[in-house]
Amino acid sequence: MRLVLLGPPGAGKGTQAAQLSRRYSVPHIATGDLFRDNVSKETELGLRAKRYMDRGDLVPDEVVIGMVRQRLARDDAADGFVLDGFPRTVPQAEALEEILDERSRSLDAVLRLDVPEDEAVRRITQRRTCSGCGRNYHLETAPPDEEGRCDECGGTLVQRDDDTEEVVRRRLEEYHTKTEPLEAYYRDRGLLRDVEATGAIEEVASRAQAVLEGVAGDAA
Ligand code: AMP
Repeated sequence: MRLVLLGPPGAGKGTQAAQLSRRYSVPHIATGDLFRDNVSKETELGLRAKRYMDRGDLVPDEVVIGMVRQRLARDDAADGFVLDGFPRTVPQAEALEEILDERSRSLDAVLRLDVPEDEAVRRITQRRTCSGCGRNYHLETAPPDEEGRCDECGGTLVQRDDDTEEVVRRRLEEYHTKTEPLEAYYRDRGLLRDVEATGAIEEVASRAQAVLEGVAGDAA
């Protein structure tokens, strides 16, 4: 299964991508996570990306595309993937098509997670992320067992630098101007599927599952 998850920050792409990755036994590839990993290791790529991320701007296409090309060349992505946070611009979508074409592959579906904007902002500003394993929590709807500690690895929970209201507004602006045109791009190719993304995590997951039934790569 080759899937792309589309949706504004706060739509729940990471959460749903993790579930879909388990269901189809394919890697969950999140460009935001790849960048954060590079930032924490202070690699050249990380240092380059950080100034854009801190402002809520998109990292330039050529940087992201190079990183994704390398990631998709790894063996674990040979039979499929769930892409979370990529593509985010039309040139990125074109590059993805080219990368897949080179291997005579194509996407099976693009799921668009639909959530009202004020709900997205609320989810993000209430989000806390484990500095160890990256797992996300929500202060109201999905808090950790022990305040400030990750249930999974015991790591410290922090607010991402770009999860403050001011930066979130900028990220949403970037979404509207640069990422939203992808909806038409994928609709024209018959790949776009809408999933209502309000409500509980499990509800959204079963809607996503229902939408994927009958899609070419749905062998799970
Ligand atoms: P995310 O974790 O997906 O919200 O991504 C966090 C930040 O990483 C974004 O606000 C961008 O600065 C950067 N980023 C992640 N994916 C991309 C992408 N496909 N294109 C450009 N920038 C990206």
